[in-house]
Amino acid sequence: MRTFEDSYRHKGLRRQLVDIIRKKGITDERVLEAILHTPRHFFMDSAFDKIAYEDRAFPIGEGQTISQPYTVAYQSQLLEVKPFDKVLEIGTGSVYQACVLAEMKAQVYTIERQKKLFDSNKQFPYPKKYPALKFFYGDGYEGLPTFAPFDKVIVTAAAPFIPPKLVEQLKPGGLMVIPVGEGQVQRMLRLTRQADGSATTELFDNFSFVPMVEGKNN
Ligand code: SAH
Repeated sequence: MRTFEDSYRHKGLRRQLVDIIRKKGITDERVLEAILHTPRHFFMDSAFDKIAYEDRAFPIGEGQTISQPYTVAYQSQLLEVKPFDKVLEIGTGSVYQACVLAEMKAQVYTIERQKKLFDSNKQFPYPKKYPALKFFYGDGYEGLPTFAPFDKVIVTAAAPFIPPKLVEQLKPGGLMVIPVGEGQVQRMLRLTRQADGSATTELFDNFSFVPMVEGKNN
């Protein structure tokens, strides 16, 4: 069950959360503002209400998780989101990351491979406040060729390698933020697609994501 009441207590906890992730090193004020305005407790079962603003991941069913707020902020900062950027997200999950990007005025195309999560997200009223946030059921390794090219791509599951089709779907000068690695720990990587189609990559900190799995799941 979920409840959609945003009390003063929730708002206060959100301000504390923003202070915590600022202290951990997030400096982009637009990212911090979006975290401040996104009621994270709406995105999980009401059983988590008291702890929804702790800086940690939580289970959301189907063996998946809502990412840690610090991780969401970290990836959003690396993505350098500008208003009207066309952003492809792989791994809709709870929709929290997608709403943070939409709050930063991005046009978000988000893909989920698990049918149950995709279907339950259709019943979720909160994201409807962002008309530019669009949901797709499919395999993130394929991207969304019909809607390409994108200014940015964000992958929110652990990728064993950089999916070539996602690089192809980036505009020249476009950025992809993706955790890469097969074990328990992945390295955050930012790829920039050059005008000639080649790519450069920068390495950032280690994180731990659920795996990016090939194919759709009914
Ligand atoms: N962005 C999410 C994080 C969810 S966890 C949030 O803010 O809550 C990662 C999600 O990626 C899971 O829901 C998982 O089912 C999904 N996923 C894994 N492999 C995928 C793939 N190949 N294509 C699309 N989604 C995938």
